[in-house]
Amino acid sequence: MKFKLIYPRWAKLARQTEFHLPPHGPVVFAATLPDYVEVDFVDENLEPLDFDEPVDFVGISMMLTIQVKRGWEIADIYRKKGIKVIFGGIASMLHAEETMAHADSVFLGEAEGRMEQVFADFRRGELQPCYNFLDRRPDIGLVGPARRDILNRRLYNYKGVQMVDLVHASRGCRFNCYPCAVSYLGGREFRPRPVSKTIAEMAGIDNNRLFIVDNSLAQDARWEMELFKEMIPLKKKWCSHPIEDKPEVLDLAAQAGAWYVYQAVFDTSDYIRERIKRYHDHGIGVEGTILLGLDSHSEDSIRRLIDFLLEIELDLAEFTVLTPFPHTRAYTELYREGRIRSFDWDDYTADKVVYQPKQMSGERLQELLDFAWDTFYREEPQRIKMTKLFQQVIRKEMADNTYHPRDRSLAGQAFGRTARP
Ligand code: SF4
Repeated sequence: MKFKLIYPRWAKLARQTEFHLPPHGPVVFAATLPDYVEVDFVDENLEPLDFDEPVDFVGISMMLTIQVKRGWEIADIYRKKGIKVIFGGIASMLHAEETMAHADSVFLGEAEGRMEQVFADFRRGELQPCYNFLDRRPDIGLVGPARRDILNRRLYNYKGVQMVDLVHASRGCRFNCYPCAVSYLGGREFRPRPVSKTIAEMAGIDNNRLFIVDNSLAQDARWEMELFKEMIPLKKKWCSHPIEDKPEVLDLAAQAGAWYVYQAVFDTSDYIRERIKRYHDHGIGVEGTILLGLDSHSEDSIRRLIDFLLEIELDLAEFTVLTPFPHTRAYTELYREGRIRSFDWDDYTADKVVYQPKQMSGERLQELLDFAWDTFYREEPQRIKMTKLFQQVIRKEMADNTYHPRDRSLAGQAFGRTARP
């Protein structure tokens, strides 16, 4: 059976350097499909979608709210041709009811152990309109190695260098932060995969550079330390979301090849200053994820925050504005207060103000977002800062002889000469 799995395109952040990471949700999902299913994956961000190609069944995988309208449009076209369409992925869960109007079926939850039933129903002509497993999560031990073979790998490169490969070591999160939907999706429960399975998957990836995409590694220090210890012999280099702020954990992370972390910076506290310093002291870079427009943010405090980011020498920063994605506390509260100004999901890019901020107009916040990008990158442009971060990984790889010759051209650019590893 030919199953076309589609990842709808979306507009990237206007100020961010454009690059395309290999998607993670679709390859994890593909690993759950029965053996008789032949998967044809199309990432619409990088490849055209041929609606005339013969296909038995279509799946649309949506991660982001800004993918949903395009996903619905694609589904409408296939369904007009009489081809059945099933939706899955995080954004399908966040927009389930609306998505059902464009779908033959919507799958909600985690796919491990469920797809035999879904595909058997399809073959019998008894596909259900909704498979809701949101409250019945599968055993995390069932998560197998992702099907990276469905990707057209040559498409995922930046200036000729292969992008990082994405992998996950756990699901869920113990916290429930104001702008985040993970607690709705994962039930405020941290669920680590068996370390041996994660390590086996990492070892099997033909790429020395990984992005460990777990929501946050800072969930359980003992588990983190066990994971990092097992990772050391792999000699992979990796980025991730936050790592536990304990010297013994950071030390092991560094030995395990930590390259840089994405770390949210909300305020100008000494705690944040020290936290960033501790990463740097361990040779770990930091890309700040900076969310502007919280109720506590005034124009002055945003200006102070940007100065602070320069002071603490973040390696990179990505600025976005608060966006009330469905099933977050932000959405619930702003909706209740009548402060959401747009429900057009194409506006939910995270760089457009779609709500009424508390301490300024939406227009002013929009201007401050531009100001933040301009100010942070004035002295040293984004391209230079990215190159410096890239130099860090090349140095680490040269130090342990894992530098790959296919990356020579960019290494030359990074060091301003021809690299001789
Ligand atoms: S923002 Fe991160 S730490 Fe907070 S709830 Fe979401 S995943 Fe968890």
